[in-house]
Amino acid sequence: MAEETIFSKIIRQEIPTELLYQDELVSAFRDISPKAPVHILIVPNKLIPTVNDVTESDELTIGRMVTVAGKLAAQEGIAEDGYRLVMNCNEFGGQEVFHLHMHLLGGKRLAPL
Ligand code: AMP
Repeated sequence: MAEETIFSKIIRQEIPTELLYQDELVSAFRDISPKAPVHILIVPNKLIPTVNDVTESDELTIGRMVTVAGKLAAQEGIAEDGYRLVMNCNEFGGQEVFHLHMHLLGGKRLAPL
């Protein structure tokens, strides 16, 4: 059983963090240390530690993360200009919180990868 992170507490609202979106599968909130004018994290409600732990039974959830990202981008007014979706995995990917999350970054021209 993977250990819970602070994200589980945010999802359950045990830590006061404004939720920008929540449904039965995913939640979204602003990154505490934004790397762009818009920096939102979209996370599965269920604890999935890394992309390596995603299974076929999670496909609906992963798809929901993308559709919610698109809706939030529109809501934040960055959809037309464009934005970046990022999922870091493990040490070499730079993952720090081991609860799967998608970064939605935008509001400025991002450096090329
Ligand atoms: P990653 O490096 O992909 O694991 O990203 C983890 C992200 O979570 C970082 O961008 C952190 O700034 C962000 N983060 C960590 N703790 C919190 C928190 N309590 N609320 C919001 N974002 C957080």
